[in-house]
Amino acid sequence: MAVNSRPAASPGSTRIGFVGIGNMGQPMAGHLIKAGWKVSVYDTAPEKTRAFVDANGGEIASSIKELGQNSDVVITMLPDGKIVRHVALGADDNLVQGMRKGAAIIDMSSSAPVGTRELGAALAAHGIDLLDAPVSGGVKGAVAGTLAIMVGGDPALAERLDAVLAPIGRRFYIGALGAGHAAKVLNNYVSAAGLVAAAEAVLVAQRFGIDSQKLIDVINASTGRNNSTENKFAQFILNGKFNSGFALGLMAKDLALAMEVADACDVPAELGRACLELWKQAEKAVGGAADHTEVARYVNEHSSRSER
Ligand code: NAD
Repeated sequence: MAVNSRPAASPGSTRIGFVGIGNMGQPMAGHLIKAGWKVSVYDTAPEKTRAFVDANGGEIASSIKELGQNSDVVITMLPDGKIVRHVALGADDNLVQGMRKGAAIIDMSSSAPVGTRELGAALAAHGIDLLDAPVSGGVKGAVAGTLAIMVGGDPALAERLDAVLAPIGRRFYIGALGAGHAAKVLNNYVSAAGLVAAAEAVLVAQRFGIDSQKLIDVINASTGRNNSTENKFAQFILNGKFNSGFALGLMAKDLALAMEVADACDVPAELGRACLELWKQAEKAVGGAADHTEVARYVNEHSSRSER
């Protein structure tokens, strides 16, 4: 049957599987259950799925294959596209062993756009549809159900599955398969550059004798304001908390993916390359598991030009 002649997904008729109950997946899957969808969950960290089901309801799948068997639509919210591919098609335990023809996967992770196209072709050979639907808005947006969702793939499939995404946030249809993932990593390039620019400005201001919070306050009333000045400096950086819930290694990964897309499109993106280099150095110094806001501390602590 053609994709667009199938009925739209609905809580009464569509079972959801959710793989990756981490910082983002946990609140996102929680919204689906609150909205009435039947959800089963899987994560390699069983304590996360146990805590999730205790707090929200839903069911724990004992394997990825079992999750696939019990789902019409599987959402992946995993660290990167390689892990998504492994979960979908990898050796031993995978989704395609369990999923029926005509079922669909929605990859909401920030995955590599080119890899997403390849995965789409591989899944099509098993009769499984793929949509990419990465998100922006952080843990705060995930908890509030207000994420920006960047959707790529067959437009009829996107429409059919729109109701699944509605409890999680606002949907923006971007284009063909992989377009959502490309938009997402380009967004994170702009976000990562904005964070570093503000961290450098704060450092220069400190040395000039200007209070950091005063600088952030006036930037937030001026043309230099960005998401980091508005939502990260006072909340996670200047107070020393560094606990936004988004890992530095994940941001560095997104930046590298954005530059891969730039390469594929023959765009020099010189600022992006310099930014990626700085994030890579920060990752080496503080580790990928550190919160991404630690990049501001890294900028501060490696603040002598002669050190570079
Ligand atoms: P996270 O590390 O908190 O969660 C990932 C989860 O996947 C973990 O619970 C981990 O145990 C699980 N996992 C890893 N490998 C697995 C496998 N093979 N099978 C099953 N489960 C597996 O990461 P997160 O912060 O929730 O981010 C998830 C994705 O969303 C990433 O692609 C990230 O770039 C993106 N993202 C994160 C944020 C944020 O603010 N945290 C915002 C937007 C997008």
